[in-house]
Amino acid sequence: MIKIYNTLNKKNESIKNNIIKIYTCGITVYDNCHIGHARLFLLFDSLIRYLNTSNKKIIFIRNITDIDDKIIKKAKEKNIHIKTLTEKFIKSMHDDTKKLNIIEPTYEPKATSFIKEMIELIKIIKKKYTYKNKQSAIYFEVNKLNNYGMLSNQKNKSIKQSYQNNKKNKNDFVLWKNFKKKEKIYWQTPWGKGRPGWHTECAAMTMYYSKDYIDIHGGGQDLLFPHHENELAQCIASGKKDFIKIWMHVGQLKIEKKKMSKKLGNQILIKDLLKNYNEEYLRFLILSTNYKKSINFNYETLKKMKITLDKLYKIKENLKNKKFNINPEINKAFDDALQNNFNTQKAIAILFKKLKEKNDIEIKYSTIELLKKIGLLKYETLKIKKLNIENIETLIAQRNEARKNKNWSLADKIRQKLIKFNIKIKDQKDNTTIFEPD
Ligand SMILES: [Zn+2]
Repeated sequence: MIKIYNTLNKKNESIKNNIIKIYTCGITVYDNCHIGHARLFLLFDSLIRYLNTSNKKIIFIRNITDIDDKIIKKAKEKNIHIKTLTEKFIKSMHDDTKKLNIIEPTYEPKATSFIKEMIELIKIIKKKYTYKNKQSAIYFEVNKLNNYGMLSNQKNKSIKQSYQNNKKNKNDFVLWKNFKKKEKIYWQTPWGKGRPGWHTECAAMTMYYSKDYIDIHGGGQDLLFPHHENELAQCIASGKKDFIKIWMHVGQLKIEKKKMSKKLGNQILIKDLLKNYNEEYLRFLILSTNYKKSINFNYETLKKMKITLDKLYKIKENLKNKKFNINPEINKAFDDALQNNFNTQKAIAILFKKLKEKNDIEIKYSTIELLKKIGLLKYETLKIKKLNIENIETLIAQRNEARKNKNWSLADKIRQKLIKFNIKIKDQKDNTTIFEPD
């Protein structure tokens, strides 16, 4: 039975339910995803793949935040409709998760589809825990809750009445934002029009999908406060104190020891990295560090990971069509490490230690088979098939011929094939076609 470290009580806790429900906070869709997001996608994907090897059923929910301050701001800057912006970045995220080979979530709720549930949740909380500020926004008054701050160990400091946004207390958080003319977007409620606060979005969606319990509520360490603390406050205020069993937090991914940010210009987008590296190299790098620790990403480490993983693929190739038994001692040690707070770093280290001690065929076979459990070594090969210039030109000529003959389906098939090899083509007015790497 797997145990996961619970941030709330600082203990490793067993997951006893036969249907394991996992909710992770998804992307706020206003920009492309970077490799910090990839750490969360890949970590939870490997956890789910591992849990899938047991006889438990997994329900995985990953939401999409498609209404938020950042979205409204960006749409305004670009002078486009909010939906145009969010649809663009939902597609971009799905392209990334597909290339990362992430198992699709059982449910992927969008915040804007759950406004009714958010309003219902606020109605319950409003009975005791909220106040309306001057602008008619609904705030959660944290002083009314006995243990506010217990998840992230916050000290609740009282502050002057005149605090920003007319909050009574520094940590009071908004459940419902009042309508602002310049924002255009709003929903109607019994207490006036406006839109939901981010913390209420996740709280309402977790409650809707999980009904009576959630085994793991996961996310990045940066979401612990205020986001998860405020989600927990709403659970307690709506009478669902123990509804989330385990709060699981994943460490950050830094670039050359610095936090990744657009401001610093050090962001690496998932789609850029995957142009040159298969997702498994990044997955291997991520799983080689305990999920609670922060990762200091650099390309040198990634290249080292590539060399090691390529060697393992060579072993796999040599063992093709051969069947052995998994060494029971290694199997147990590997499983024990994963069952104890999904310690992939330790589990991988155990395999490499054994390989070093006794490099025989049974150990090699066991290593390959066990790594498959956490989403590694799942491909036939990682070698990238490349098209040379002549191949590309031949394909383009065939496509032009098909177009001339009005054989659109063949023309499209060839275009799709070129896209697969990251070749972008542009048809010119003079009936010629130019191409470039995508
Ligand atoms: Zn969330």
